[in-house]
Amino acid sequence: MDRMKRWLDTGKDFPWNEKEILRYLGHRGQEIPENVDELIEDCMRELEQAAAARSVWREYPLKIQDHVLDMTFVQTRSSNLERNLRDCQRILVFGATLGSRVDVLLHRYGLLQMSKAVILQAAAAAMLETYCDWKNEALRQEYQEKGWYMRPRFSPGYGDFPLECQRQIQAALELGKRIGVTLTDSLLMAPSKSVTAVMGLSRKPRMCSIQGCEACGKKDCAYRR
Ligand code: SF4
Repeated sequence: MDRMKRWLDTGKDFPWNEKEILRYLGHRGQEIPENVDELIEDCMRELEQAAAARSVWREYPLKIQDHVLDMTFVQTRSSNLERNLRDCQRILVFGATLGSRVDVLLHRYGLLQMSKAVILQAAAAAMLETYCDWKNEALRQEYQEKGWYMRPRFSPGYGDFPLECQRQIQAALELGKRIGVTLTDSLLMAPSKSVTAVMGLSRKPRMCSIQGCEACGKKDCAYRR
């Protein structure tokens, strides 16, 4: 037992997306050397032991007027996010982390074995994505049962969504108290493998890909960011 507490008590193994790890490593379809394959495998096992994934979310009303997005806890402008939130009346604000032991691991290999540290970075980023997708899919289903359609997650710093909104998200979600995530003066999150995002909720159906517009097949969607 441990392996991310046996995939957070589902009784299954963590559903690794190795293609995503390779994508983070800049892989373009070339053959993967055997030693890299072994290092990826090692990194996945070590991350399963070190990670303690946690997440929180809160729901808020949303008003959009004169291109100002009023999310209750913050008012901001972002044409990319505005397009994504069109027809939404509410939002979910979401925060997740893999926990501080992943940073200890990253730091240790940064000193001991740089090649492994690079792969560990990629694998940890992929792990966080998979964890967020899993949590978001559960939320999508829960809200759909109540007649709300959830839009894909959109993080501060993405497109023209100001990174400065991290401060208000941090406060609104009480990230420090609830999941141990703090912000540096330069708005980086600690632990480093943490993420925040906003997801729109609308009464108008739109079957969004949980991985977001980049991975969605609906190329002609008017809301595509
Ligand atoms: S492109 Fe796909 S994921 Fe993006 S808004 Fe449209 S339906 Fe949703």
